[in-house]
Amino acid sequence: MELKAKNIKDDLEYLREVSKKVDLKDPKLHDNIQILKDYFAKTPALAMAAVQLGIPQRLIYIRNTNLQKLENSEVDEERVLINPKIIKKIGHTRYWEACASCLNYMGLVDRPYQIEIEYDLEDGTCQRETLVGFEATVFSHEYDHLEGILHIDRAVQVYDLPEDKRRKFRNLLPNGGYEIISMEGEFEYEPVKNLHLKR
Ligand SMILES: [Zn+2]
Repeated sequence: MELKAKNIKDDLEYLREVSKKVDLKDPKLHDNIQILKDYFAKTPALAMAAVQLGIPQRLIYIRNTNLQKLENSEVDEERVLINPKIIKKIGHTRYWEACASCLNYMGLVDRPYQIEIEYDLEDGTCQRETLVGFEATVFSHEYDHLEGILHIDRAVQVYDLPEDKRRKFRNLLPNGGYEIISMEGEFEYEPVKNLHLKR
């Protein structure tokens, strides 16, 4: 059976759940990671939080953070981040984000330019890493899903456009619509606006 991403039309309450911490000794963990890998083998989304595929655990899969190769379905970074935490957020960027769970809504979202994160690997080791540029945007979007937050909650502007039009729209903008406003200074998210959907 083909796995479909949960969406805000049918599963909004589910997507609003705060995902639970992954128990690294959970015998189902490996299978859950495999579900994510199988999904990405067929669907060229950039990244996804497990909750979007019906696993409400703090687990993120990242496939593609290369802004120059977003259309390339061959790219697969195969990154699995378990129980990620954000230690530090620096700088300020904006991008017109879309989401497999948010129908055709594309939203202009403020994100940090650089983030320091910590996460576990499946073998139980803890990693600390700095994500810079577009990869910080992709990660931040997925991290929000773990907290039940959607990009359209944070968006300063939202358009309802099908995928081909979203692509055309971004391609008309410099740097594919990814704008670096500042590379330094602490980033503070604006409070979630909840303009579009209830929490
Ligand atoms: Zn999303």
